[in-house]
Amino acid sequence: MKRIALLGATGSIGRQALEIIDAHPNLELCAAAAGSQAVDGLAPLTQVGGDLTELLDRAEPDVVLNAVVGFAGIHATLWALERGVDVALANKESLVAAGDPALAAQERGGGRILPVDSEHSALFQCREGRSGEQIDTLVLTGSGGPFRGRARAELEDVTPEEALAHPTWRMGPKITVDSATLANKGLEVIEAHYLFGVGYDHLEVAIQPTSLVHSLVRFRDGAALAHLGYPDMRVPISYALTYPERAATPLAPLDLTTLTLEFSAPDTETFPMLALAREAGETGGAAPCVYNAANEVAVAAFLAGRLPFLAIPEVVVDALSATTNEPVRDIDDLLEVDRATRATAEGALAAA
Ligand code: NAD
Ligand code: MG
Repeated sequence: MKRIALLGATGSIGRQALEIIDAHPNLELCAAAAGSQAVDGLAPLTQVGGDLTELLDRAEPDVVLNAVVGFAGIHATLWALERGVDVALANKESLVAAGDPALAAQERGGGRILPVDSEHSALFQCREGRSGEQIDTLVLTGSGGPFRGRARAELEDVTPEEALAHPTWRMGPKITVDSATLANKGLEVIEAHYLFGVGYDHLEVAIQPTSLVHSLVRFRDGAALAHLGYPDMRVPISYALTYPERAATPLAPLDLTTLTLEFSAPDTETFPMLALAREAGETGGAAPCVYNAANEVAVAAFLAGRLPFLAIPEVVVDALSATTNEPVRDIDDLLEVDRATRATAEGALAAA
């Protein structure tokens, strides 16, 4: 029996995870947490808000499924890695903002990260059993979001409602807006860098509008292995929770006769958040944490109707250019970077 602590149990990933756990005889929920909605009775131990590591201390899970949204998920990720506990990681923000401390915690404690993000789950599966030198490039695919194909001028007045109408995935509001700006793909490039130890010049992004190809690994001999499937998060959630097994899910088999697979390059001029993430990733240190914090503030302001869609990257550019990029020693330094970035960005928005 695998005992699972589900953090973010009321969210999009959390609810799909409950379905997977319910259906699998060897998976058991030992704890559940959410940010504000009630989770009473969902698991033997539950918590709303507060310090997630206190719940984890009591629950002693075999796997932490981290489906919290945003930097708030960081402590749970570090808790698990430090103790040699597996993390099924949906919460990409924590790995982006604190990749170095996470890898250091993993080095000390031996916890494994099993990616839940569909692209990273795909890459994890396609590269399994291969040494790093055989791999040439990792290709992350993305749908391009609801505004794919639009020019900048056509994005001036887009509303939160339009940004929340994702063409292929049903997800929580923050990641859905990130998909519309391509910040999600930017976060995923940095996530892949830390997960797979691959340099940014070996991380590629391709747009594949129907989201049927979840990512590809290019090998040095010219072969490329791709992961295909319907866009349904229950598949990567199930894989992360049952790894190294592969359990049955209720999904229909992929109908090959109806597939159309078109690929294109991302439009990084209309959607600058992708290139900005790459720059922040290459700069390293505090920069990915600044990128993430400023983006979280900007997305919340956009969703609240306080910021135009096109101003989201401006908030991030301002935050990144104000960064001195002093060396980051540990997680406490990054917590301070996150706090200070949010305070400055909030202050600028309030003054505008
Ligand atoms: P969501 O907004 O639907 O749910 C977020 C969950 O986190 C909720 O249960 C909320 O109560 C909880 N939460 C927020 N702050 C918390 C806190 N401080 N302490 C405890 N719980 C807190 O979001 P989602 O779409 O399920 O996404 C969750 C994470 O998974 C994000 O990092 C997202 O980028 C990632 N992800 C989601 C999808 C998807 O299909 N939804 C796909 C890939 C990756
Ligand atoms: Mg993804």
